[in-house]
Amino acid sequence: MRVIIAGGTGFIGTALTHVLTASGHDVTILTRRPRPAVPTTGGGRVDYAVWDGMTARGWGELAEDAAIVNLAGENIAAGRWNAQRKRDIVESRMAAGSAVVQAVAKAVAKAAVKPRVVVQASAVGYYGDRGGQVLEETSLPGTGFLAETAVKWEQSTRDVEDMGVRRVIVRTGVVLGAGGGALARMLPPFRLGLGGPVGDGKAWFPWIHLHDEVRAIAFLLTRSEAMGPFHLVAPGVVTNGEFAAALGKALGRPTVLRVPAFALRLALGEMADAALLASLRVVPTRLLALGFSFDFPDIASALADLTTAA
Ligand code: NDP
Repeated sequence: MRVIIAGGTGFIGTALTHVLTASGHDVTILTRRPRPAVPTTGGGRVDYAVWDGMTARGWGELAEDAAIVNLAGENIAAGRWNAQRKRDIVESRMAAGSAVVQAVAKAVAKAAVKPRVVVQASAVGYYGDRGGQVLEETSLPGTGFLAETAVKWEQSTRDVEDMGVRRVIVRTGVVLGAGGGALARMLPPFRLGLGGPVGDGKAWFPWIHLHDEVRAIAFLLTRSEAMGPFHLVAPGVVTNGEFAAALGKALGRPTVLRVPAFALRLALGEMADAALLASLRVVPTRLLALGFSFDFPDIASALADLTTAA
């Protein structure tokens, strides 16, 4: 199968490309910057199509009979949220979603073979800040910038369903992987023994190992009965305090220092509350019901793997 990955050059897209090509799928990465093709170890090939991030120009014809994974969007943690940054975060996602819908509409209009599936990225920030409430895929969205962004983001590709194309939404927790993402930012202070719980440490912290994140996406791509939202989070959701203790233990470092909420707010502004202090007790009900098995279901095994690899 050909899989088109919009935003496939990023942290998740790179790992997903490896998993898909290793199992024989061909991958086309949509990027705003051309790059030389990457050699792969498996049976599948990788190539790049340059796009503008907002239309089907230059790649729409590839969508026939393909699977599309839409990961594209300005990085949420790349800088302090000011009005312009927030606009970029939202608008880049709406534009990428609209491009996917255009490509699918073109393929369907040609009466050719329809795209097989659209996998739309989303985030557990959809739920806002929910204390100890257990959140399943049927739970209602929350409030705040991230929640409102996630709701619009999920809707950006909804029209493909009316065109008869299967759509899966991957509502993802904090992805822990070697060499990038949140863990790369956390490791330096924790290695120095300066890491610790954030705020009061009681907020629920939904996470997933990068290895399981991309396995789950590959699983949902090929399971024709999978539709709608899926939580991509490990079953072993922990509190922020438990996470800090587990990371300290994996590194053999103390974690007695707390990062006070006010200091985070001072450093990061609004992003601190939305992304680091929010409590989200998210569980992967639908993935487990479909028979997906996590290689790293608990935080100790995930961090043991990642701190050895990093
Ligand atoms: P990255 O930031 O690593 O990659 C995103 C990719 O999107 C980039 O490689 C870039 O590709 C492309 N991109 C960036 N800005 C734009 C833009 N303005 N228009 C079009 N494309 C753009 O993200 P991740 O791989 O970490 O995450 C993938 C998606 O999953 C993101 O949307 C993210 O919000 C979401 N997510 C990630 C989580 C995580 O913990 N990592 C958790 C929950 C959700 P290029 O420069 O080549 O065009």
